[in-house]
Amino acid sequence: MRMIYERMEYLVRQGKDYSGLLKSLIGLLTGDTASPGLWTFYLADCVMPDDADDVLLNGRPISFVAQADDIAMWSTSPAGLQRKIDVFLLWCCVNFMVISAMKTMWMILGPPPRILPVIRVGPDIIKLVTKYKYVGVMFRSTHRYIFADQYTAKAAKGRSMSYAIFAMESFIGGLPAFEGKTLYMARLDPHLTAGCEVVLDVETELLGLLEDVQHKFIRRLLGLTYRSMLCVLFTETGILPIRYRRIVLALGYLKYLVLLPESRLAWSAYMDSMRLARLGHKGWVNDLRFVLLHLPKPVIATIGQLSSAETIDDLIDEVVKSCETSLQLTIDTSPKTVLLRNRVEKGDDGSLKAVPLHFRDYLRAPAVHHVKAVTRWLTGDSPLAVDVLRNAVRGREPVPRVWRLCRFCHAEVEDAAHIFLTCGVNEELVLLRKEFLESAYAGDDALRVLSLRIAAQDMIHTLVARRSLRNQLGKFVWNIGELLSVQDVFIAER
Ligand SMILES: [Zn+2]
Repeated sequence: MRMIYERMEYLVRQGKDYSGLLKSLIGLLTGDTASPGLWTFYLADCVMPDDADDVLLNGRPISFVAQADDIAMWSTSPAGLQRKIDVFLLWCCVNFMVISAMKTMWMILGPPPRILPVIRVGPDIIKLVTKYKYVGVMFRSTHRYIFADQYTAKAAKGRSMSYAIFAMESFIGGLPAFEGKTLYMARLDPHLTAGCEVVLDVETELLGLLEDVQHKFIRRLLGLTYRSMLCVLFTETGILPIRYRRIVLALGYLKYLVLLPESRLAWSAYMDSMRLARLGHKGWVNDLRFVLLHLPKPVIATIGQLSSAETIDDLIDEVVKSCETSLQLTIDTSPKTVLLRNRVEKGDDGSLKAVPLHFRDYLRAPAVHHVKAVTRWLTGDSPLAVDVLRNAVRGREPVPRVWRLCRFCHAEVEDAAHIFLTCGVNEELVLLRKEFLESAYAGDDALRVLSLRIAAQDMIHTLVARRSLRNQLGKFVWNIGELLSVQDVFIAER
């Protein structure tokens, strides 16, 4: 260490200017390469004797844990905790350290005793708290779920981050979907997944706080309303719903635990939790099984499957499959998503296959308002009568599909196929369609011939799937939206 410090030289940069090399002659530079190692060496001789009231993990007494100088210790009795603090205080006294009583707190987990004990650091009484943040994780002793505050804190952080991301729209205009997804993964996802390896989603209401942040972000990115379907937020962007993302990360952490050497504390904690699971008690492993079992399409995990890296990999695949299956089932059965069925995407090997979760090509069109218009049309959240009249509003009941008639011809159901390709009453609509189809058919006789042979609905599938038509289609759909906006939806007399 002395050799490192003797040879270490520093360089200061300001903008493009660099100082000459210089040496630091005093102190220990916090945050430099050597300081975490030096701290570990410094703390290494802080050894606490085993105590009768120690917490045992897999039979191993846990004296304390430390994240640099942020130290947590626990005991099964107040007297045991006081003994630990006294031992630690003694070590600090002979090692030139001071414990700040102001910054030290203690917490009771489980039912509090009838007479509250007093815990001291030296002569100073330390404060009893009901919530505390340790290594980025919030703990609360007065809620039935100890990690409840983690959800409220991270949902609030996620919301602030969403606002910050969309604030840039006042400078750049609409945020493009691809860049929005990149920002989501870089800036929002870390908040929504923080601590998810340990904090398992056993409380649906708390998970809902994080889901709400995710849903609102993707809806705004895609220009969808609060009434839009949830499944399309994921099938169109390829983003994994947060409950699946969190459980996949938790399973990845389990795999890490399985492969740890036996000397590690985390391995002891894992083994302890496995033992509790085998005995049918609550614990992290049983919580993990509970969460898997309560997915919309349940994944059943035996304790044996949670003990090997290979079977955990299979479980991760099964969770993703469970997500894809339940999303695809909704797409295949909902009347709102007829335009999203039977889609294929080109795989890496060039083959075409159905991919339930994928960042769709139409989202890459350059004009953001065109992209939002196409997304709303495809996902059943459009200004068409078939979508607008589906839901009840104040003073009006939902209208049966056969009565959601075209605002121009009053004769047929106003759906995408009718407005895009067949209604011939509104001159402006006919002109827009003619312009679009002529540009689409130019140099593509096969498409023109196909249009004569297939149904209007299938033709829309074909047009959306043509990457070469991406920009024209966006413009066409947006122009039709503008046209529809000047004439109210038709409410038929029944
Ligand atoms: Zn019509």
